[in-house]
Amino acid sequence: MKKRFSAVVLITLFLLPAATAGVEFDDYFTSGSLRIDLYHSGAKDTEFYSVDRIIREKHWGGNPNSLIDTMNLGEYIFFVFDLDTNNLIFSRGFCNLYGEWAVTDMAGTSPPAVFHETIRFPIPAKPVQVKISRRNRENIFENIASFVVDPSDYHVRDERKYQYFRRRALIDNGDPSEKVDICIIGDGYRSDQVHKLREDAERLVNELFSVEPFRSRKDDFNVRLVESVSEEAGVDDPREKVYRDNLLELTFNSLELDRYMIEANNRVVHDIAARVPYDRIILIANEDKYGGGGIFNFYCSCTTDNEYSGYVFVHEFGHCFAGLADEYYSSEVTYNDEMYPRGVEPWEPNITAFTQRDKIKWAGLIGDDTPVPTPDDSTYAGVTGLFEGAGYSAKGLYRSSRDCIMLSKTMEFCPACRRAINRMIDFQTD
Ligand SMILES: [Zn+2]
Repeated sequence: MKKRFSAVVLITLFLLPAATAGVEFDDYFTSGSLRIDLYHSGAKDTEFYSVDRIIREKHWGGNPNSLIDTMNLGEYIFFVFDLDTNNLIFSRGFCNLYGEWAVTDMAGTSPPAVFHETIRFPIPAKPVQVKISRRNRENIFENIASFVVDPSDYHVRDERKYQYFRRRALIDNGDPSEKVDICIIGDGYRSDQVHKLREDAERLVNELFSVEPFRSRKDDFNVRLVESVSEEAGVDDPREKVYRDNLLELTFNSLELDRYMIEANNRVVHDIAARVPYDRIILIANEDKYGGGGIFNFYCSCTTDNEYSGYVFVHEFGHCFAGLADEYYSSEVTYNDEMYPRGVEPWEPNITAFTQRDKIKWAGLIGDDTPVPTPDDSTYAGVTGLFEGAGYSAKGLYRSSRDCIMLSKTMEFCPACRRAINRMIDFQTD
């Protein structure tokens, strides 16, 4: 108990002075991104980060006015401290595949696992300390890794890869530091299928910007496609014993769920994304099977030729961009009850465990006349309320509307999701 208390105090002390005082970009950073590739390994209840390699990238697409993360989203967060002054100069919440694996039954029954992941921040002018924290079961952040990075060290690699892949601006609204920058990368497209990659990317992007609030906020986005090519068409489908030479190594059956297509060669994904400034990465797979996946502030994916591809693209981007939770509660998933421990308020902005009106995240959107919890019947279609059933659980977790893109194959976000998306756009652009 004592240990948990100290962790809370430490993080509070670090956050408040810096967030209040503000961090001036030019005081601590130069242009470009410092990218840290990590191995994230462990078994149930133990996890470990090891640095794979550190790379100096040409582009940084982020907002220099939002260096400290004020969104409080994500299962994990990393902090960057200036080593001389110990000032907090950057932080960012995120999620990863290890965190998902750890709440499947595989974590208790199979050998330890290892996943590859990446954190990025603008290149610091001087040495920094990086700390990575994870929420415990009470949702309190606890430190799990800490290391020092000297940007002038010769181990920091100035490496450029995939220079021969062409880049194409699908939406160009100007300065990356003032926009949400999306990088789309294709997987399983042969060199003679680049035209199809372009058409698929354009079609899916049009689907995204046909949905509110993306439609109204389109001017806040840049979208760039890197025209990556693979030796073979399609991606891996282990349950069909189909294994292809696809560049990103996207595969169905990620974490043993057939439709989940998220595991990819993270090194290659980020080597290719580094060709452009970006805040989020979307991987599109030249496939007609239903599938995809989305992990907050890591990347998301979908197939392109399924009748629901447009829907999956928007749904998975909701996870990746704004940290939205799944609101569905009746489909098969790979996670166990530890995903959302009973009695703990989830960090995601679109689901809640609270039933007291004043504690609901979207309380301000609920009319005084609407009963809380709200009956899930047609009387309350289109009404903002508190509907039971969300986050893979029919009981004990609640959502803001009867329907949402995060719940079913509709093409409309619920009010809580729309508000969360708008807030993230503001964070990335104001
Ligand atoms: Zn929603």
